[in-house]
Amino acid sequence: MAKQTPKKHKVMLTGVRPSGSITLGNYLGAIKNFADKQGLFKSYIFIADLHAITEPRQPAELKAAVNQCMAMYLACGIDPGKTVIFRQSDIAEHGIMGFIMAFQTRLGELSRMTQFKLKSAAGGKSGVGTGLFIYPALMAADILLYDTDIVPVGADQQQHVELTRDMCQRFNKRYGAVLNEPDAFVAPVGNRILNLRNPLEKMNKSDCSDNMGTIFLSDGADIARKKVMTAVSDGLGLVKFDQENQPGISNLISILSCITGQSIADIESRFEAQGYAAFKSAVADSVCCLLRDIQERYRKFNDPKVLEDILSDGRARAEKIAEKTCQRAKTALGLA
Ligand code: ATP
Ligand code: MG
Repeated sequence: MAKQTPKKHKVMLTGVRPSGSITLGNYLGAIKNFADKQGLFKSYIFIADLHAITEPRQPAELKAAVNQCMAMYLACGIDPGKTVIFRQSDIAEHGIMGFIMAFQTRLGELSRMTQFKLKSAAGGKSGVGTGLFIYPALMAADILLYDTDIVPVGADQQQHVELTRDMCQRFNKRYGAVLNEPDAFVAPVGNRILNLRNPLEKMNKSDCSDNMGTIFLSDGADIARKKVMTAVSDGLGLVKFDQENQPGISNLISILSCITGQSIADIESRFEAQGYAAFKSAVADSVCCLLRDIQERYRKFNDPKVLEDILSDGRARAEKIAEKTCQRAKTALGLA
């Protein structure tokens, strides 16, 4: 039986769909946490382009979004010297392993996924593409192929990492200790940045009917400031973290806390005697400062030759481990 061999280093992996421009939610919920930890693990980050075709897209737009995602990773501090950066569709094993993992799932499990329930309710079940239903199996493959130990994700993806663990356990129970069981890393603050106009909903990269509720990392300072200043701000008139009664203000407090590193309690006491306008202005300053730094680096890295070189190096390095793990799974199944 082909089993895992012990590893020298723990493995961290995450990915973003190139389904639109990267948002402040993607940055604070996943990319920043990954960048902060990248030196501590054997680190992999990928552009999840196969996940982007769960809905039909213009090919040219998808290509542009892949390049933008790649340059944004670099601009957000992902360091190719410490992290393998690759494009999912470059590694054929994602498809094979996704197919294998699909058979470790049950209809009931996939139907219970909150994201499927939410998105299919919005679109009417029969009109929903099967990609939306089955993609957690591909996500499990993405994670398991690299013997991943830790997956930094936002709260919305935690359930899919839990499902990955279930699939992994099921596979190992049937076929031996072949796959490595991962854990999600969900940051205590900033794991679910909310839409600024509708703080009952997550800030999304796609599916945002009102763009004023979503801050994109590519937003200019004027528009980003306007988005923060016009964010829904609840009725209490107090800068107090209370997600149930003040979701809008709590969201802005989380954003400020993640960007500046100040604790929620410190932010509350700093703005205790001040109104929403002063508080929002401080949030806008911190967001604009972050975006300015990211955009400055983005311009530096947004060079097709630089991006292609990094991707081709990433492909070679990712391929090695993905091939090995997939072979192990195939041997265990009797396919090789
Ligand atoms: P889409 O609308 O295309 O699904 P998305 O904004 O949900 O876009 P994904 O590519 O699905 O982005 O997710 C990339 C990572 O960002 C995941 O780890 C996800 O959990 C995290 N993430 C997404 N939205 C938020 C958010 N609003 N707050 C915190 N983390 C988020
Ligand atoms: Mg998403």
